[in-house]
Amino acid sequence: MPELPEVEAALEFLRTRARGRTIARVRLLHPALERRLSPTQLQALAGARIARVERRGKHQLLHLDDGRVLHAHFRMNGDWAFAGTSAPLPRFARAAIDLDDDTSLIFVDSRALGTIDLHPAGVALDLGLGPDAADPEWTAEQLADELTRRRGPIKPALLDQRLVAGLGNIYAAESLWRARISPFAPSNALSRERVQSLREAIDAVLRRATGSRYTDDDTVTLDVYDREGLPCRRCRTPIERAVQAGRSTYFCPACQPRETAAKQGTAKKTEKTVKKAAKNSAKNSAKNSAKKPARTSAKKTAKRTARKSAKKSAKKTAKSARRSRRT
Ligand SMILES: [Zn+2]
Repeated sequence: MPELPEVEAALEFLRTRARGRTIARVRLLHPALERRLSPTQLQALAGARIARVERRGKHQLLHLDDGRVLHAHFRMNGDWAFAGTSAPLPRFARAAIDLDDDTSLIFVDSRALGTIDLHPAGVALDLGLGPDAADPEWTAEQLADELTRRRGPIKPALLDQRLVAGLGNIYAAESLWRARISPFAPSNALSRERVQSLREAIDAVLRRATGSRYTDDDTVTLDVYDREGLPCRRCRTPIERAVQAGRSTYFCPACQPRETAAKQGTAKKTEKTVKKAAKNSAKNSAKNSAKKPARTSAKKTAKRTARKSAKKSAKKTAKSARRSRRT
């Protein structure tokens, strides 16, 4: 799903391809968009010049020189493509903005959930957004003040665009992992220090992702998102997945314990479980072994076996997770 860094990349694309150009015609290629833009509105777009483009959170605003605003949102997986106006349209093309230089900006969206709207001139555009996650002026103090008013867990709060604009499921999970905060931590229970590390983590995560075009494994290495069963990059504990407010959330149970006080308990428990598993499989392998190896070597073998099978199942899980990705 396109989040702030990906939308920023799309904006960069619009700045180079569309800014300063005049719209020759807008073609709608999907009924969902036809419901949002009337034929009259469409006709009136011809001849308007795209004066500037702006990103607000995950929203893209194409400011026309007469004050109207063409407003695009990718939602789940929209994107822009660019082609000559007479070239065949790509699969899943939902709209085409033909420009005066015989090129077209094409809104491509396989799920057809993305939106394009036209806002009239002279009306202040209120998108109901909080501070932009990439805004250097947005401080940890502001975030902390907002969080004291919220009782729910922190992860869904970070997805609320009124709290902070631009974060989505991927970068919210990444930021929490980096700040070592549990996605289940109550928002109003986070200390100022923890909110400070969260603010810094959001900054670092977004910086690292900026310039990427869609989150795929080749451009950005994710630390926790979509890594269920794989070892945590910090402590090697398998990453867990949970469903929270209807969305998948990924976290390290050791680095991101549910409560700070429970941190040691969780770590100990994990260690215990691992030891127990190793012991059990040591017993089994000793039983199955004809030679009856010495206790230490049985333990070693068991550990190796446990590691191997954990790796195998982790790989399997990751594979199936990728298949059913984007919940
Ligand atoms: Zn960890």
